Amino acid sequence: MAGFQCPFCSAIMAVTPDTQTIRRPSFSFSDESPLLKGFSDSCLDISFYQCPHCKEYTILAKGIGSAVKDVNTAIRPQSQARKYPDYIPLAIRSDYEEASAILYLSPKASATLSRRCLQGMIRDFFQISKGNLFEEINAIKDKIPAEQWAVLDGVRRIGNIGAHMEKDINLIVDIEPDEAQKLIKLIELLLQQWYIERHNQQELFADIIGIDQAKQQERKKTE
Ligand SMILES: [Zn+2]
Repeated sequence: MAGFQCPFCSAIMAVTPDTQTIRRPSFSFSDESPLLKGFSDSCLDISFYQCPHCKEYTILAKGIGSAVKDVNTAIRPQSQARKYPDYIPLAIRSDYEEASAILYLSPKASATLSRRCLQGMIRDFFQISKGNLFEEINAIKDKIPAEQWAVLDGVRRIGNIGAHMEKDINLIVDIEPDEAQKLIKLIELLLQQWYIERHNQQELFADIIGIDQAKQQERKKTE
């Protein structure tokens, strides 16, 4: 059964008449029927999803008339990208933001950027560089918690991603939007667990050392 992941709360919803409505407006008609011979040349396919969990609407538009085939865009939300702090390298943040921005426009290109982002994160965070992402995921097996590695290992099994990943990072494979979305979610999880938690820990340690040094200075003065 086809599932759709809500970009607002991440819940997976079944695609049924209760959660999805499709309207097909055009220059001449307010809602064209697929039962007619064909769609007029300006006809758009607008999919409305309402999440049963958070009730938010997700709206996607696609051109199905011959003159508007270039339309394929997310109307709401326009981008699902979160904003990350500056201490995460710019190249990683840009790949992540672009992968999010083009998720619906091109799931393939989005997944390709996500794999590059993931590779950039592994190389930067663990200071390793192997021939490809497949080997790099292997190389960090004993460097991260087992459950985290199991998630990365799981990436290999999502659809076609794993089957092709060991060959070439830039290889374009067929992929569905929800598979591409899972890659983005994984990147968000690892940005949090690697970069943000390391930064918070470093800040806490620096604070504690700072307090210790200040106390020692005070002791010296009173001695
Ligand atoms: Zn939701």
